[in-house]
Amino acid sequence: MVRPALILHGGAGARRDRNYDREVVHMREVVEAMKARLEAGAPALDIAVETVVMLEDSGLYVAGRGASPNLDGEYELDASIMDGETQKAGAVAVLQGFRNPVVAARAVMDKTPHVMLAGDGAARFAKAQNLEPVTDPESWFTRAGHGEDNHPPGTLSHGTVGVCVLDNQGRLAAATSTAGVFGKMPGRVGDTPIPAAGTWADGEAAVSCTGQGEYFIRVAAAARTALAVGAGQPLQQAAQATIDRIGQMGGDGGLIALDRKGHIADPFNSQGMKRAWLDTDGNIVVRVFNN
Ligand code: ASP
Repeated sequence: MVRPALILHGGAGARRDRNYDREVVHMREVVEAMKARLEAGAPALDIAVETVVMLEDSGLYVAGRGASPNLDGEYELDASIMDGETQKAGAVAVLQGFRNPVVAARAVMDKTPHVMLAGDGAARFAKAQNLEPVTDPESWFTRAGHGEDNHPPGTLSHGTVGVCVLDNQGRLAAATSTAGVFGKMPGRVGDTPIPAAGTWADGEAAVSCTGQGEYFIRVAAAARTALAVGAGQPLQQAAQATIDRIGQMGGDGGLIALDRKGHIADPFNSQGMKRAWLDTDGNIVVRVFNN
């Protein structure tokens, strides 16, 4: 039996002049709930979905209920999930009209021969799966990122949720869900639904990214980190190198990562990154800034 571990994030768009007490309380509650599930033997993939559903449903982060609209006022959501044991992956992009994009991503993985469905096709699939719809977007979505925009006009500011899990069988999984960057063009797809860019899990490491997705795509951020671990680099070093590369290119954000031994890494180059983790000794830690 392996001692389980988990790390989640609520986005790297955090700014120092904003209060995150509610998010801190909520992230602790989520990790506590998932600690109990992991100790009861729940599989990493199920925990990845359950964690992201709790984050999506809270309305506190820019994913699920907390989504912000695109430039046309539409809510287009992205999510992905990846199973470290099989390297199977599922994703939805530009999904409109559904409450939990991560559940749709899992269904794509489990029930189709594909990895990603986008736009209207994703919505038709979600409907056929009887996933819970959002019938009145204006009353459902909370625009959680409002006031979190700490970037000059013209740059991409953002928010997302994600998780990396190691279960007591030693299996890794990762999942990420987002409404993308604020003020995005209709149809824009960031790193979040793209395996290798925003999400990755293999036998060595699980990774979930948050930040200006265009940069994370261009460096294959999540896979780059895990493959470096597979090649023998310590997790912390591999994760930091990925964020450093993004910084050199002019991008910002962060990532969470977990390896098969339960090591945790959480580098970011933005002001803050909402995050919380359960380590292999059973300790729970919640952080927003570098403290
Ligand atoms: N990475 C996400 C995107 O580009 C946004 C975020 O993480 O805040 O869509």
